[in-house]
Amino acid sequence: MGFQAPRGTADLLLGQAYALNCMERQAQAVFARYGYDLIETPTFEQLDVFVRGIGEATDVVGKEMFRVFSPAALAKLGEGRALKADEMLALRPEQTAGVARAVVQHNLVPPGATAVKFWYKGSMFRAERPQMGRLREFHQVGAECLGAAEPSADAEVIIMLMRFFEACGIPREAMRLYVNSMGDAACRPAYRDQVRAFIVAHADDLCAECVRRADTNPLRAFDCKASTCQAIMADAPRITDMLCEDCATHYAQVKGLLDDADIAYEENPRLVRGLDYYTRTVFEVQVDAGLGSQNAIGGGGRYDGLLQEFGGKPTPGLGFAVGLERIQLVLRALGTDAAATPALAVYVAATGADTRTAAFSLAQRLRDANLATELDHQGRSLKSQLRQADKSGARLAVIVGSDELATGSVVVRDLTTHEEEKVVLEDVVRAIETRLVDDVQ
Ligand SMILES: [Zn+2]
Ligand SMILES: [Zn+2]
Repeated sequence: MGFQAPRGTADLLLGQAYALNCMERQAQAVFARYGYDLIETPTFEQLDVFVRGIGEATDVVGKEMFRVFSPAALAKLGEGRALKADEMLALRPEQTAGVARAVVQHNLVPPGATAVKFWYKGSMFRAERPQMGRLREFHQVGAECLGAAEPSADAEVIIMLMRFFEACGIPREAMRLYVNSMGDAACRPAYRDQVRAFIVAHADDLCAECVRRADTNPLRAFDCKASTCQAIMADAPRITDMLCEDCATHYAQVKGLLDDADIAYEENPRLVRGLDYYTRTVFEVQVDAGLGSQNAIGGGGRYDGLLQEFGGKPTPGLGFAVGLERIQLVLRALGTDAAATPALAVYVAATGADTRTAAFSLAQRLRDANLATELDHQGRSLKSQLRQADKSGARLAVIVGSDELATGSVVVRDLTTHEEEKVVLEDVVRAIETRLVDDVQ
């Protein structure tokens, strides 16, 4: 019996890996225009990094973490001994916590410093029940801006996110951007109390989970999937009615900057992120195509309290994360997932064993001239090689025959029109480049 890829993981085949790579390159291109620098943090961290950075009470930390054990740690566990904090490791379920940990560890934002901006890409791991667009190993790109409290930082991050989606091929009109403000330490406690009281007053009609959470994290009730809970919470108090003056001003300025940039958005007072360190602006982008009821493709928010969780000084920050597999599903549903493995330019065919060596060295010359080139390694017949050339998607074939070779030339064949032309071997790179340039024009 053969091996299979683990449950909830995927082999990225037939252009899929290339499509993900294209999105990462779009991220690189777009985010660089906004001054974001690529950061890499470890794929696994001390478990406590995620407990601090995501929250103990969340499903992600409570139920979905893959743990990592060194052989020494496993031996200790086998002997029934407890592990030390730095022996308890987990695969990252997201990357914000790792970035925040790195920023504090290396003191990248000392007081008074200019803001630092990082973007990241990579695999994240969650032991979820696999479902459409949600794998146990999945790929994200994201961005974090640390050190800037001003509303222009919020607007910049949101605009950059929308530009990234557009660069990936999602049309502007297919997306809905939701924004909200979650207030801050000055105004949110009173709001939480009001939501808690609202939940208690409607306890008979809400699900057990929502009622149970009323004490610890009442705002999570806004995220409940139960339709009865959603209907009831639609009438719950709205944070936007209770923002303090500073938060109200900040929110108004963010919206003003989005208006100025012609970014369409809808205010959604029920859009909350159920973690205490989220402050003020939160946002989410949804699409209707391809994802069923799970229609969010990315989101984020301001987390002015996060760095303190890692022992840093109070540092404003905000960011977002985007799931690349989810974008792929959307693009497929929209019929715009054009990305595929890059096309070959040239297929080099040999007429027989006596010209194979010459064909091989010609292929190297073409590749050294930056032309994507393929050739046969299996000694197939010329007919079979030309069939391969047609299938390969190459624009041109070069046929290396013994008669032509004797006179220092080869045959260049246009694989679309099937026209053939004899070309001097020395000029073949330039001749092919000329034809490919003509194609583009
Ligand atoms: Zn509920
Ligand atoms: Zn406030």
